[in-house]
Amino acid sequence: MSDSIARQIEALSQQLPPSTKLIAVSKTHSIEKIRAAYHAGIRDFAENRLQEALAKQEELADLSDIRWHFIGHLQKNKAKKAIAHFDWIHTIDSLALAQKLNSYAEALGRSPKFCLQVKPLPDPNKFGWDIKQLSRELPELAKCQSLKIQGLMTILPLGLTPDGATAAFKTVYNLQKQLNQNPAFPFELKELSMGMSGDYSQAIEAGSTMIRVGSAIFGQRQ
Ligand SMILES: *Cc1c(COP(=O)(O)O)cnc(C)c1O
Repeated sequence: MSDSIARQIEALSQQLPPSTKLIAVSKTHSIEKIRAAYHAGIRDFAENRLQEALAKQEELADLSDIRWHFIGHLQKNKAKKAIAHFDWIHTIDSLALAQKLNSYAEALGRSPKFCLQVKPLPDPNKFGWDIKQLSRELPELAKCQSLKIQGLMTILPLGLTPDGATAAFKTVYNLQKQLNQNPAFPFELKELSMGMSGDYSQAIEAGSTMIRVGSAIFGQRQ
């Protein structure tokens, strides 16, 4: 098992440009598998459920240089805990959540790094901002000055062709450029969190700086 994890990580790493980081999505996978990935060189791990993540963090406390990424939908009543326990939160998906996180970050004097989750194509099954809504809510979001917003994150709708996926990722890339040039947007976006096991090649082609890969490293989830 740990051999195959190391082999997958090696194979993926060879495809990455130097500017792109590999985040191992360890949700549902065991502590043993996470340790195997760590020993193969991974330091960035992502989880999508708070309780599961906190339990794993405790069991892996000896690996103190792991950076933990939260990639699930975050309920507002769990925002405070998430701020305290993660280095990155990729999923600010609404203005109300941004405001909640901002008030906790202010109170705790601590902020992880954040991405805004955006939808380059309409997708009623996913959380996140569509582009028009983001531009409408920009003035309110700009007031959340305690948030270290550093990137955009996206999950594409199912069923796109490879070319369709590349085009959608490029829409997010262009949005990043536009926001960085917009004087009303007070954050500097350096990161694009996009690409999973099925579409990371297209994401890299479109400028991803953080791919989030689960099954291609750890195997299928139960
Ligand atoms: C599960 C998950 C991934 C990883 O998916 P794989 O297809 O297993 O690589 C990436 N991003 C998010 C937000 C996820 O929930």
